[in-house]
Amino acid sequence: MSTKGKISINAQNIMPIIKKWLYSDKDIFMRELVSNASDAITKHSRLVQFGTAKDAEAAYEILVKIDKEGKKLTFEDNGIGMTAEELERYINQVAFSGAEEFLKKYEGAGEGSQIIGHFGLGFYSAFMVAKRVTIDTLSWQEGAAPVKWVSKDGMEFEMSAGSRESRGTTITLDLAEDSEEFISSYTTEGILKKYCAFLSTPLKLISEGEEPKQINETAPLWLKRPQECTEEEYRAFYKSTFNDYNEPLFWVHLNADHPFNLKGILYFPHYHEGLGSMEGQVKMFCGQVFVADNVKEVIPEFLLLLRGVIDCPDLPLNVSRSFLQNDDYVRKLSAYITRKVADKLISIFENDREKYNGYWSDINPFVKYGCMKDAKFFEKVKKAILIQTAQGESLSLEELSAKAADEDKTIYYANDAKRQTAAIKLYTQKGYTVALFVNVIDLNFISFLEYSDTGLKFKRIDSDTAAIKSDEAVELDLERLTALFRKAEGNNDLKVSAESFEDKSVHAMMIYDEQMRRFKEMSRFYGESMQLPEEKSLLLNSNSPLIKWLDTCQDEAKTELICNQVVDLADLMIQPLSDERMAEFIERSSKILDILAE
Ligand code: ADP
Repeated sequence: MSTKGKISINAQNIMPIIKKWLYSDKDIFMRELVSNASDAITKHSRLVQFGTAKDAEAAYEILVKIDKEGKKLTFEDNGIGMTAEELERYINQVAFSGAEEFLKKYEGAGEGSQIIGHFGLGFYSAFMVAKRVTIDTLSWQEGAAPVKWVSKDGMEFEMSAGSRESRGTTITLDLAEDSEEFISSYTTEGILKKYCAFLSTPLKLISEGEEPKQINETAPLWLKRPQECTEEEYRAFYKSTFNDYNEPLFWVHLNADHPFNLKGILYFPHYHEGLGSMEGQVKMFCGQVFVADNVKEVIPEFLLLLRGVIDCPDLPLNVSRSFLQNDDYVRKLSAYITRKVADKLISIFENDREKYNGYWSDINPFVKYGCMKDAKFFEKVKKAILIQTAQGESLSLEELSAKAADEDKTIYYANDAKRQTAAIKLYTQKGYTVALFVNVIDLNFISFLEYSDTGLKFKRIDSDTAAIKSDEAVELDLERLTALFRKAEGNNDLKVSAESFEDKSVHAMMIYDEQMRRFKEMSRFYGESMQLPEEKSLLLNSNSPLIKWLDTCQDEAKTELICNQVVDLADLMIQPLSDERMAEFIERSSKILDILAE
């Protein structure tokens, strides 16, 4: 005897819409069917624990079988199974209230995979890839009879006596023509590995003629207690999970039961500028089932620069992203993760300063970005922010502040330790500590520090040389020199001034207004092509023998050569020349050598 019926979903057209939504991500039917199987097994093991059901006998497992010839995919579990009545309740009467409203709200939102499970539709995702779905199930209950359920479209079904002889459920998918890729064991194994690599129940793939292959590791490292994990285990887990042959620097093992259930491991990877490794990867799990990478709503954006796994079994991860954004629970969770990461940094900083100093060049973009993104994080890690100096020290803000000579706490900085050696020396000779800001993020971070309550002010070494001039009087014919350099530069607006530096070897420096330069760099960084006036001026060293000689030189040809060379050298002290100017510079240098030899 068999029964036929219509699946009661309020909206008749739900199936086509589910299919459309999920088309781009149809792999997730596998996640849904396997996690249903895993849930059914967990439920059974609980019943055994409570003494309600008798012992499981056979070991719990989930089998995924591929029938290449028949183009079928089977999901088999030995969980609780379903009685006919349960099938009716859980599968036929799809819990789906307010369908119309729901459809209106989410149509086109592209969040299908997030929504699907929440509305008790996970099982129906099978219809994205199958032209027929068969359930054969036998409940754990004493005297239960096996039941079979078949549906071609997820809208109409037929129920009859089933054939399962042991407790559990077998779900068979006859694959639709456009989904035959899933009979490839390579494809299916890849998808199962993606979502179920850490599932709690053994999951085996059986492809015709092949041995059963276990896909998952049932006890992932993040679920172990931190005290029980070894350093080798942490490193091995990192390498296998992120396919990175580099060692991680250090890690934070999250292991909370209260006020929420949160487990995970976050690794600090090596940082390579320019290799795009500012992008980390945080895998989000929900009870050992992979949900998605980099779920911004749960994990603060700056933590996504790290690599790791986060498992939140209680998080309604199947609901829409916009829900997560406004959820108080999620906010607390996110704050907790941030706090734990900050605690780790502080603990290394306080307990092993040398090690921390060593990590800094790798972790500084992360810490700086975090500080700018999250005021609480900044508050926590402020004391562990380091500034490297041209003298090779790594100083905390407090230590740096103590070294600032002026009362207004000005710190001079360079952004290229090697190229700017000569200019840096002018400062270090005078006893100044020169900070190094060499990362792209420093452009923003310097301003951030100035606006925060650190009291520090930063000036690049080519912005204000008042600090390094000597007391000697300047005796140059500035008016004449200005005219000469303007002519050489072909720039009638060039400002020329002179100061006396103790270091005679530096002829001149190009000086830029700090704020204007930063503003320009910032707009260039954000891709704005604003035409801003060139705010540079040439500062001559009146203590340089060459400049003194130039002051009185009457040889026009030599004067021009030297003026041009002095300007180029002044620029080169701080930054590279344009290709064109570099070519001229090389040509002119050769000419000067020829004259020397004459
Ligand atoms: P959800 O899992 O979100 O509740 P599903 O549509 O995936 O929604 O499943 C509906 C219900 O059907 C489940 O809650 C469960 O009671 C039952 N079910 C699905 N698959 C199985 C299975 N393999 N074994 C036992 N019960 C199952």
